[in-house]
Amino acid sequence: MQSSAALFVNAVPLPALFISQSERIEAANAAALSLLGTGIEGRHFITALRQPMLIEAIEASLRDGKPRKSEYLTNDGQQDTTYKVSVRYVDMTPEAAVLVCFEDVTAFEQAGQMRRDFVANVSHELRTPLTALIGFIETLKGPARDDDVARQRFLDIMDDESKRMNRLVGDLLSLSRVEAEERVRPTEIMSPGDVIKTTAHSLNALAKESDVILKTDLPDHDVVMGGDRDQIRQVLTNLAENAIKYSGAGSVVTMSLTGPAYEPRLRSQAIRLIVSDTGQGIDVHHIPRLTERFYRVDSHRSREMGGTGLGLAIVKHIVNRHRGRLEVESAKGQGACFTVILPVS
Ligand code: ADP
Repeated sequence: MQSSAALFVNAVPLPALFISQSERIEAANAAALSLLGTGIEGRHFITALRQPMLIEAIEASLRDGKPRKSEYLTNDGQQDTTYKVSVRYVDMTPEAAVLVCFEDVTAFEQAGQMRRDFVANVSHELRTPLTALIGFIETLKGPARDDDVARQRFLDIMDDESKRMNRLVGDLLSLSRVEAEERVRPTEIMSPGDVIKTTAHSLNALAKESDVILKTDLPDHDVVMGGDRDQIRQVLTNLAENAIKYSGAGSVVTMSLTGPAYEPRLRSQAIRLIVSDTGQGIDVHHIPRLTERFYRVDSHRSREMGGTGLGLAIVKHIVNRHRGRLEVESAKGQGACFTVILPVS
């Protein structure tokens, strides 16, 4: 027969322990055993918990009967995890006890950390062009006031820097709009082939300027599907702009459409939008991180090319909204191939 303490902790939907006034662990539920180790029942609680703040909270609660809050930090084998622990006094006979419950707040803490990192990154990205602008304005007001040649050069740099800030703010706004809509399914009907054609048309000038050949490869049949035309255009623009920017003079960038065909990974009929280039490619170890905000393989080169570090993060959110997938294949020196798989139904 299970003791009433055991029955009690087994009903708690979190890791939970019952610690008696004699400071022994009277009962632990299965989640607590998997968190703290099997064999802790019957032991002195200090030997099972070993974290001074939590031990003090339990001792204090057993002494004065008041509830306490504490933390338990551990590692689940893959990552550091944080538990918020609540300690509640239970005035039962023949012996009083405390009920100790562990709530996993790791995801919450990580979200907080991500938010702090994001704010720090945005501030840093904005500060660099802003510092340049402030510096040049000072120089134009002072030492370079009467120097026509310097004034023109500085104004050109200021023009570049202010456009960089404008692009960054534009991409941040796009990202927040796309994130806000991520759960709303698109209702428009569009032709991905037409979207490729219009995107290629608007990027022709950039391709020419960069000495890159921009090609399209479309099927003979027309494909129509549900999707947000403007967002798919943004996906293709971001991917093709990257391909043109990073593959460099003399390379070939191809935007193609295939399908619809059955995609086992999506378990449905889907089309593929493929943007490939013959540039330098990307080292394999960077690939899993490319869609993180502000992640760049080569920060210097990205900035030089006017990149904000947000293009692929925006692509990822749009693809998620369409319940599709983004696949990246590349090896250093062998070009890059970005494939967007979108379900047609
Ligand atoms: P950025 O604004 O820096 O271009 P993105 O999020 O669009 O930001 O891309 C992230 C990084 O991925 C880029 O800084 C670049 O290093 C790398 N990258 C993206 N596309 C390509 C490509 N076609 N070839 C080589 N590197 C690429």
